Amino acid sequence: MAGEPPVGFSDILLEGLAPDGGLYLPDSYPRPDAAWFAEGRRLLADGGYAALAHAVLSLFTDDIPGDDLRALCGRAYNDRVFATPDIVPVSRLRDGLWLAHLSDGPTAAFKDLAMQMLGQLFEYELGRRGASLNILGATSGDTGSAAEYAMLGRRGVRVFMLTPAGRMTPFQQAQMFTLDDPAIVNVAVDGVFDDCQDLVKEVFCDLDFKARYHLGAVNSINWARLAAQVVYYVAAWMRVAPDGGPVSFCVPTGNFGNICAAHIAREMGVPIDRLVLATNENNVLDEFFRTGIYRVRDTDETVATSSPSMDISKASNFERFIFDLLGRDGARVRELFGEELPSRGFFDLSGTDEFASIRQRFGFVSGSSTHADRLAAIASVWESDGVMIDPHTADGVTVARRDLADGVPMIVTETALPVKFEATIREAIGRAPETPPRFAGLEGRPRHVVSLGRDVGALKALIAGTVDN
Ligand SMILES: *Cc1c(COP(=O)(O)O)cnc(C)c1O
Repeated sequence: MAGEPPVGFSDILLEGLAPDGGLYLPDSYPRPDAAWFAEGRRLLADGGYAALAHAVLSLFTDDIPGDDLRALCGRAYNDRVFATPDIVPVSRLRDGLWLAHLSDGPTAAFKDLAMQMLGQLFEYELGRRGASLNILGATSGDTGSAAEYAMLGRRGVRVFMLTPAGRMTPFQQAQMFTLDDPAIVNVAVDGVFDDCQDLVKEVFCDLDFKARYHLGAVNSINWARLAAQVVYYVAAWMRVAPDGGPVSFCVPTGNFGNICAAHIAREMGVPIDRLVLATNENNVLDEFFRTGIYRVRDTDETVATSSPSMDISKASNFERFIFDLLGRDGARVRELFGEELPSRGFFDLSGTDEFASIRQRFGFVSGSSTHADRLAAIASVWESDGVMIDPHTADGVTVARRDLADGVPMIVTETALPVKFEATIREAIGRAPETPPRFAGLEGRPRHVVSLGRDVGALKALIAGTVDN
């Protein structure tokens, strides 16, 4: 990460990674002044979310002319793409908790917010270069659908998305498989999510094949996704605290992508008091923030829960935070992630000054929840407010409620709509989730999906056959 040659935003966008193959971070985070934030508030009020997005993304972008970037933001964030003109509205529950609604995009999960921007940026940049890109990915549900809806109709982009056959919720399957476009190729693999991911890795390891078929990725370590996610932390803060006072955020966390963007927003000067990290039973990150020990799990130690998008064994963006925590000491980070973790399966920062200052310097606190906690949170928010929350948001609500004392507004990021997780909603409150009008009839439409065994040769043949045609 540290000491890289300078490279443009658009190169990182298309590569997803820094030139050395590591996770990219800018040399330093932008620190806009009070006048910039005041102007940002005016932009949000007058020009809406897209105008604020343009202001924030300008801080991270060095090679896209301002007017072009403004137009791309306008195409990503408008009320034809999102169900609400506010894009990220906020609301308050009876007990004082705030929700930042990140799920009003085309696939009803927060991943739309970054992915829609990525789709615009890809089309723009590929057009400038006269190039094309074939995205290859694996999904357990939300990432794949967000990517497909964002890339649909974008010139020069095709998507191959691997899913574990029969293992996504019926709604998630309907979302992806009813897309009818030759540039969207759904692949149902006879296996679990890890099998899908292994296949993707195997294909990417064949560098000749990767180059020949212009393969790329849109996973959560993509730097442009993180940059786009910073925007909604700025917007939610501005909406909840019109006077500019401090807020706290509680973020349901899997790969540490969403909350990494919150961390970056905080480093940029957004007055975030606490950053509350919420996990489910797969609590590898909660354990770190409580003990200072980061111990990645074996895949057979990772349990399938009712908040499946947070079922992780290690967190792919976590290295970015550790880099900041350790004062951007790249050598130490390489030692931890390149040597200690692979050889011992864990690293231990519990005795260090950096870990001791984690709450004070970076705001982090954490907690985890169980299936029973999620059911109780869904039921209690439904009973007190008549609002249905999804199981991931319920993890956030559970953990946030333990930390409500001090009068600073606490904002839980709503990461998906309940319609995606009907079985758990029924279990919690005995009725089906509402289906937003934009999804009416979805589950009845014809499906487009190719079945595949766990066979990298067959996957390569599928890609080659599709691209060469
Ligand atoms: C992806 C996802 C998460 C986890 O987000 P990270 O960025 O991986 O921490 C949480 N909730 C939902 C609904 C998701 O789709």
